[in-house]
Amino acid sequence: MVRVHAVAPDSLGAALGLSPGTELVAVNGRALEDFLDWEFLTAEEHFMLHVRSPAGEEIEYDIERPEGWGMGVTLEPPRIRRCANHCDFCFVDGNPGELRAPLYIRDDDYRLSFRYGNFATLTNLKPWDMERIIEYRLSPLYVSVHATDPTVRRWLLRNPEAPEIVPQLRGFAERGIAFHTQVVLVPGVNDGPELERTLGDLYALGAPILSVSVVPVALTEFSKIEKVRPPTRDECRAALRSVAHWSTRAVAERGAPWCFGADDLYLQADEPLPPAEWYGDFEQRENGVGAVRYLQTRIAARRDRWAAAIAGKRVGVVTGTAMAPLMPQVVEPLAAATGARFEIVPVENTLFGPSVTTAGLLPGAAFHAALVDRRDLDLALLPAEAVNDDLLFIDDLAADTLAAELPMPVRLSYDFVDALGAGEGEGEWKG
Ligand code: SF4
Repeated sequence: MVRVHAVAPDSLGAALGLSPGTELVAVNGRALEDFLDWEFLTAEEHFMLHVRSPAGEEIEYDIERPEGWGMGVTLEPPRIRRCANHCDFCFVDGNPGELRAPLYIRDDDYRLSFRYGNFATLTNLKPWDMERIIEYRLSPLYVSVHATDPTVRRWLLRNPEAPEIVPQLRGFAERGIAFHTQVVLVPGVNDGPELERTLGDLYALGAPILSVSVVPVALTEFSKIEKVRPPTRDECRAALRSVAHWSTRAVAERGAPWCFGADDLYLQADEPLPPAEWYGDFEQRENGVGAVRYLQTRIAARRDRWAAAIAGKRVGVVTGTAMAPLMPQVVEPLAAATGARFEIVPVENTLFGPSVTTAGLLPGAAFHAALVDRRDLDLALLPAEAVNDDLLFIDDLAADTLAAELPMPVRLSYDFVDALGAGEGEGEWKG
């Protein structure tokens, strides 16, 4: 059963009288488990819908949907599938105490993998889930492979029950499912020959493996650092040699690189990033793969439109310490095109410790400390990925509370285009 959260005005759902709290029980006699059932089973033009109103009334609708008229129903969030693994490098273990409860949820949910590109391990699939993946063609899925050797993968996941990943991927691939995959690189465990084996096994699965990324393990002061450590510069360089080996082969044989290093892997290896063209459609940019080049591409396409809005201004670009060294190459063309002056403001993570360098995990208090005395800035751009949907930073500081305490206007930005594209004075907290 799924429940209605909201109904858009002028939608078919509103015309039927569906309202928040209505239980969506079944479509064509088939019980609804989650948003996937709802979306796929109501995609037909004609279907029977069984609901239970907030007052408890059972209603059966015989729906003939006029073309182009959507149901307009937003559902309550699904119950998240919990993870069956216990990785030593789990981000949940890396959280300090006393954050908000959702940050301690270990989710491993193939449905969110399909919908949002979250990486899942597929270790908690029931036969019924596998049937749904195939029936609804949930493709592509984003899968954390880490290692194709079953023993190494089970060790990494701390899950002796984890099924073998290669037969699992092959079985889905034979039924039309494709995958973007990742390897979180844990030095001494799945690097070196293990990484070569993993990349070779994934390559051998052919076209259904759309891409693989190699991402250095990310740890905080609170992680199980007695059990897992970050890779050294030389280990990152060795991993990049494996990436180069397989991507060169893929370009020659398949016409596209297929195998990518995360931006962070290049950064930690102290090696230059590949050009933007290397990343194709930037399929794994949300995973930090090609994110810098994507940003540059977006800016290059739009920078002329901003000249008037920010000409002569001093703009603070606030980011984590990982991205800070890369940002000058991003903002220099923007400064040349607009006449604005950009200052990169690297912010150390005061909540997780300085080893956490990504902008998305910076607490509001760290932004506050970095900006509260900066009366010389006309505008500050803050990383939009540092707030959740309710515009709360990870330490629960609200974005508007922070903005009210800072001496300059601030805007949330994923990629500059979203924040600087607005007119002057417009859209503080645009995300
Ligand atoms: S798969 Fe590993 S890293 Fe991901 S949530 Fe589970 S335990 Fe944490």
